[in-house]
Amino acid sequence: MQNAKRPFTSFSSIKAEIKHHSTYSFNTTTRAHINSNHPEKAITHFTKFKEQGFLPDSFIIPSLIKLCFRLNEPPLHGQHIHAFVIKKGYLQDIIVCTSLVEMYFKYGFISGSCNVFDEIPQRDVVLWTAMVTGFSQNGFMDEALEFLRRMVREGIRPNGITVSSVLSACSKLMVLHLGRAVHGFSIRNNIFKEDMVLETAFVDMYVKCKNLNYANRIFDRMKNRNFVSWNAIITGHAHNGSNENVLRVFKEMVWSGSEQPASSTLTLVLQVCGGTTDLFHGREIHGYVVKRCACNSNRLVEENALIDMYAKGGDLTYAVALFKSVPTKNLVTWTTMIMGYGMHGLSKEALQLFDEMKESGIKPDSITFIALLSACSHGRLVKEGERLYMSMQRDYYIDPEMKHFACMVDLYGRAGFLEQAYNFIESMPVQPTEFIWAALLSSCKIYKNLDLAEKAAKEALLLNQHNAGVYIHLSRMYADSGRWEDLSKVRLVMKDLGLKPVTAHSWVELERKLYTFTVRDRLNSYSDRMYSLLDTFKQKMQKVGYVSDESGVGHNTGEEEKESDLCGHTEKLTLAFVLINCRSQNLIRIGKNLRVCKDCHETFKFISKSTDREIILKDPNRYHKFKHGQCSCFDFW
Ligand code: ZN
Ligand code: ZN
Repeated sequence: MQNAKRPFTSFSSIKAEIKHHSTYSFNTTTRAHINSNHPEKAITHFTKFKEQGFLPDSFIIPSLIKLCFRLNEPPLHGQHIHAFVIKKGYLQDIIVCTSLVEMYFKYGFISGSCNVFDEIPQRDVVLWTAMVTGFSQNGFMDEALEFLRRMVREGIRPNGITVSSVLSACSKLMVLHLGRAVHGFSIRNNIFKEDMVLETAFVDMYVKCKNLNYANRIFDRMKNRNFVSWNAIITGHAHNGSNENVLRVFKEMVWSGSEQPASSTLTLVLQVCGGTTDLFHGREIHGYVVKRCACNSNRLVEENALIDMYAKGGDLTYAVALFKSVPTKNLVTWTTMIMGYGMHGLSKEALQLFDEMKESGIKPDSITFIALLSACSHGRLVKEGERLYMSMQRDYYIDPEMKHFACMVDLYGRAGFLEQAYNFIESMPVQPTEFIWAALLSSCKIYKNLDLAEKAAKEALLLNQHNAGVYIHLSRMYADSGRWEDLSKVRLVMKDLGLKPVTAHSWVELERKLYTFTVRDRLNSYSDRMYSLLDTFKQKMQKVGYVSDESGVGHNTGEEEKESDLCGHTEKLTLAFVLINCRSQNLIRIGKNLRVCKDCHETFKFISKSTDREIILKDPNRYHKFKHGQCSCFDFW
């Protein structure tokens, strides 16, 4: 008490002083507990204080309630506080009541929140927003919207926070029609007006609900944008697979000069660059990163993303150089590089790097092991893979997840140990997914084991009968072994289910322009020259004794048609197109959306030798680097 000299005038005032003093010290002690490392002491303090017959005032109640759900305890304490609030008549206090509403929603006690809400005579925008947010967060979207409407009917204007909270729930649940309803509602009620945060929330919602068209429209009309808005729209383009737009919008963002891209945006854009066959844009962004981070020594996130981009984009040499230049590498840096080596078929280098990583004192996580196991599988290093799989559990206490199981099945399968792969699946502690069986199936196809393939296909289809890839693998195997009746049965099922195979396409970028080719493409004005060039190569190959491998065809056709079919493969067409149109450049980079077939692989090897050019072919899983008639995968992929 500061004014100790003031004489007490009566006993009741002494009592009032004591009470005031106690409440003050209660609040101070409680706050100190809340902010301490032992916030649970605050609750004990509250209970003790109450038992002594003192009254905490309403100011401290919201902090105590917030503390209850921070402690993540069953709502016993919360109900305790609620009972206290009712007893002491604090229900008139709207701040206290709003905290109670939030508390019950957090615990999922919707009726508790509604009961408190009904008790409150005077409701403000914060309370209404708590109701709308609570319903949205608990997945009761219709109720959230109903409360939004009710609040407007009762003359309370929702604010940006109210609408944003409904939107974030729409995004999470991906319910576009509700998101659009909120959009319409906001326009009608004039809430939607140059509020950057709200506009961004709409862009984000439309992106997550996969309506890029609407997201674009809102984004284009925004007068002010922050990095969250830019990030939202760039993410949208990236998920839509539109690399061109990602790069265009990113450049706009940089040129607009108003906003610096966040590290997460840069990482996303670099990922997109790594997916293209031309690293031109990636190098440009690299330059930008160096300039931007010149005075910032901590750019590890960007550096990791750059290593990933160069490795995925096919320039492993540069990725390694960059990796070596990073002074303090973290787990992501090491894992990215291990993954890079694996993709390029350099399994031994991947394993060696892992040893260096351990020596540097960095502990691997479950993703590092995925990188290692897939590196082993690319290089047929079965023993090393098994050893790592054991070590992961024994030395690092990492429980294998589905991805690790898939890697193991792939490891055995690709190496030709099909029985072991099958036994591994049987011994898995969890139910295998369709992808595990599909991995086995794809190995069965390489080694032409139709019996096991049928078994694997059956299991995969039991889990998902709409997996088109499984039917296609199976039908190709039936075609290869001349089982036409079974083949037509599979095709009939596919037709009944309305399944279509993924159409193959390959692409190449020449002088900043992207050229895409589909199967048996004849749309190009160079088509005739392309086909005749491929024919010349085929004849040359036959002269040196090459017999085409037709396992990549899978049609019930005559021999002649089969061969021309092979020439219609998209990667071959793309290569012919480059050879005709670009004589100067030594390195050719081609991308393909499906795995390369054996015949194309042989043709690429042959062409790399006879034209003395280096060709990089990227499929969804890995790289093939053809040079002097050899491929970096050593014919194993
Ligand atoms: Zn092919
Ligand atoms: Zn290869």
